[in-house]
Amino acid sequence: MTPARVTGTPGRTRVLVIGGGITGLAAAHRLRGRLGPDAEIIVAEQSMRLGGKICTVDFAGRPVETGAESLLAARPEAIGLARAVGLGDAIVHPAALKPALSLGGRLVDFPAGHMMGIPGDPADVAAIADAKERPDNGLPILEPGQDLSVGALVRARLGDDVLDRLVAPMLSGVYAGDVDRLSVRAVMPQLADALERHSRLTEAVNEIKRPPADGPRPPVFATIDGGLDRLVTATSAAARAEIRLGMTVRELRQTPYGWEVIAGPVPDPIKITADAVVLAVPATPAAQLLRAVEPQAAAALSGVAYASVALAAFAFEHVDLPERSGFLTPASEGKTVKAATFASKKWPHLGRRRQIVRVSMGRLGEEALLQYDDATLAKTALRELGEHLGHRLPEPVDQRIDRWGGALPQYTPGHLARVAAAREALADHRGIAIAGAAVDGVGIAACVASGQHAADDIADLLDA
Ligand SMILES: Cc1cc2nc3c(=O)[nH]c(=O)nc-3n(C[C@H](O)[C@H](O)[C@H](O)COP(=O)(O)OP(=O)(O)OC[C@H]3O[C@@H](n4cnc5c(N)ncnc54)[C@H](O)[C@@H]3O)c2cc1C
Repeated sequence: MTPARVTGTPGRTRVLVIGGGITGLAAAHRLRGRLGPDAEIIVAEQSMRLGGKICTVDFAGRPVETGAESLLAARPEAIGLARAVGLGDAIVHPAALKPALSLGGRLVDFPAGHMMGIPGDPADVAAIADAKERPDNGLPILEPGQDLSVGALVRARLGDDVLDRLVAPMLSGVYAGDVDRLSVRAVMPQLADALERHSRLTEAVNEIKRPPADGPRPPVFATIDGGLDRLVTATSAAARAEIRLGMTVRELRQTPYGWEVIAGPVPDPIKITADAVVLAVPATPAAQLLRAVEPQAAAALSGVAYASVALAAFAFEHVDLPERSGFLTPASEGKTVKAATFASKKWPHLGRRRQIVRVSMGRLGEEALLQYDDATLAKTALRELGEHLGHRLPEPVDQRIDRWGGALPQYTPGHLARVAAAREALADHRGIAIAGAAVDGVGIAACVASGQHAADDIADLLDA
């Protein structure tokens, strides 16, 4: 069958954004700002909704996240986007509650003064982990451009206990990954920079953690009252893009005039032409689309592995929860539940009429867990939650299970260099940019920044 051509308006610039997650939408929004009202901006999204890993549902009468729940407010991009699309008044911050660690069936305070679980002073974590800083040789820990795994770094400098009891649970909450395979440069870029100046890990941590001279630090996290879906909807509206849902892009080609893609259902494909393309999809589809364009870039992306997680949410009418934001569990505890968030305590805007708890299960290599049916996963989560809290929990008034298969990219050492090489190779192909969690960072703020940079690169090129 000959694909039908989607005709554009002659003389109008057209940019196709592939992927309607927050990266693609942030890119579309920036493109609108840069290219003006006449540009055609198309967002092709394979599923029937925008947002990707951001998805808010009505649960027990409250807007509850099934995927990402918070924005990093310590960096400006996500918060800045929320303000730019009219959600400044809806930005809310978590209550000042501490997280806990679940150790030996007890919840204990997660020590203060750390960076992703790495202490600035071994004494701060003495109650939890046997931490001794190894003697150093006076040389910076990392040379410029050098990378190593978080596991190798922390094990060598502070010992197994700090890694297993503090750093791994912390990183498991974000990456669900294997600390011995996660790149320091990619997952802790600020620390990696500091490691080029310090011979002691704790000194590098302290340099980053030093409070600003002019007073207390602003809140580190935020979310949107009403749910992060509002950020998705508002960004999409402000971008004034043509949103095409259910539109899987299956082929990507460079032409003498720009780009063309084959998209849509196999029996009824369409061809979309564009002056430029922003590729904002996970690594596997990105690699597949790039194979015919630039095999080197495709190879770099196809090497990014993904971890899967399952989330259970429970709503309780009456339940006794500790005054904490939640807890993390080291893998050595042998539990399926790796973390829990006491959502209605952590986020006061959710109200406390019903207590909502989100439980996360699954580390890298535990994909089989996602095959269990909902009832089994909910039962396991509820039973283990009770074990962590030290008492049996009442029947929840509502519960749900969400599976995120292959959702969290794992950046192994050398990731940033491979991405840089992929971009360099793509620079020979005018008008294509790659962006998103597959390449530039898992957090929403990093994804927003990535989408905006990609849009700026494309706009600079089209303006030139
Ligand atoms: C359970 C979970 C909890 C998380 N919690 C947090 C958190 O609290 N805070 C935080 O900052 N981050 C969190 N994250 C990470 C963050 O949500 C994601 O990294 C980020 O949303 C990814 O955005 P993205 O646009 O790059 O990719 P995605 O959200 O994956 O969007 C990519 C889009 O591309 C579409 N697509 C794929 N292939 C094609 C194709 N061929 N054609 C067209 N469209 C295609 C997909 O359907 C998808 O909608 C969490 C992630 C998960 C899974």
